[in-house]
Amino acid sequence: MARYTGPKCRLCRREGTKLFLRGDRCYTDKCAYERRPYAPGQHGRRRKKSSNYEIQLREKQKVRRLYGILEKQFRKYFEIAEAKKGVTGTNLLRILELRLDNVVYRLGFANSRNQARQLVKHGHFLVNGRKVDIPSYQVKVNDVIEVREKSRKIPIIQEAQEVVARRGVPQWLELDAANFKGIVKALPEREDITFPINENLIVELYSK
Ligand code: SF4
Repeated sequence: MARYTGPKCRLCRREGTKLFLRGDRCYTDKCAYERRPYAPGQHGRRRKKSSNYEIQLREKQKVRRLYGILEKQFRKYFEIAEAKKGVTGTNLLRILELRLDNVVYRLGFANSRNQARQLVKHGHFLVNGRKVDIPSYQVKVNDVIEVREKSRKIPIIQEAQEVVARRGVPQWLELDAANFKGIVKALPEREDITFPINENLIVELYSK
């Protein structure tokens, strides 16, 4: 599956916020956004007035980049969210949260969503006892996500478990760190997603 392979810190600077795309580095003073909190490029420091369209577009790009999704897939998620019952924006965020790579990251088996995606693709995880190597796989309530026995000694998984306390595990997930396991206790609610997102702007953008 295609994915963005360019410089990640540039994305944070472009979106004007920390997207936490580089794991532990994001929490240190090496963070590029902390050092240069303005857009990249020659005119990056220049403030310009934004149109409504620009504001909506930037919000969509921010969320898309946060979860590491390409445009086509993101649009598809929006269409699924729109077709579901309930609030479209909340449905969209829920779909993103329920991706297996995001759940692996949230449980602290990886230090970034990008790292989680690689680990999933390399077949290091089981869902309900069966190997799943599709990062976009949608987990369901009561699914058990587990690091495969032979993968438990992988240093990046062990290191990620050591630092997960810094982020915290959301309440819709339950981590059994000793057994490298997590369970989806409930569907994520809007208030569980604490990263500042205005999903209404995305709905407005795609509803034009
Ligand atoms: Fe973004 Fe992390 Fe790079 Fe900072 S270190 S700019 S939060 S990806």
